[in-house]
Amino acid sequence: MRLYRNPHFLAYQDDHAQIPPPQRPVAFVSLPDDPDLDPPALLNAACTVRGLAPLGRQFWLKCPRLPAQLLHAVLADGRRARQPDGRLNETLYQIHHHGRTVQVRKPAQQGTATTVVATGGDDPAVVCDLHSHGHMPAFFSPTDDADEQGLRLYAVMGRLDSVPEMRLRLGVCGYWQPLPLTAVFSDAGPFLDLYNFKERER
Ligand SMILES: [Zn+2]
Repeated sequence: MRLYRNPHFLAYQDDHAQIPPPQRPVAFVSLPDDPDLDPPALLNAACTVRGLAPLGRQFWLKCPRLPAQLLHAVLADGRRARQPDGRLNETLYQIHHHGRTVQVRKPAQQGTATTVVATGGDDPAVVCDLHSHGHMPAFFSPTDDADEQGLRLYAVMGRLDSVPEMRLRLGVCGYWQPLPLTAVFSDAGPFLDLYNFKERER
């Protein structure tokens, strides 16, 4: 089992024997140059994991919410990823949290209208994998479920050319807790948050 975890960003209290807890205390993280930072946000993710006692309030942000300008940036970039005929390609982004800085990076990747294959992905500074479905709705496909097996935030954006939408979830080694965008970001930015909408496609 591979765990992707940023100890500066997510803390974990173990009552799941298969998931090792952090090896050292989690540092508080602040972001530079933003006087309007939120206080740390609690991800009140009361997860139900089959066969285990309920997990309550197991995860929390150790840093202020991430600036929504990151979401504007990924939408702008995602809209530029097109085939010659104008169709949007899928793309993958990763949000790297280094304590004083947060960066969105685009790993080496090959995208089509319906797939994206990227290299790397086990950098512990990555706190969120975010991929684009291009024109399609934002939903977590069985392929996404198979790929998103780390301990990390996962987001998918869709309908980039109409009303852009996004879903966000916290992943724990194959279990997921849906979260509102505002649990992690300062606001939803340019996206319709689908947190309160049932997934339409699987
Ligand atoms: Zn997907």
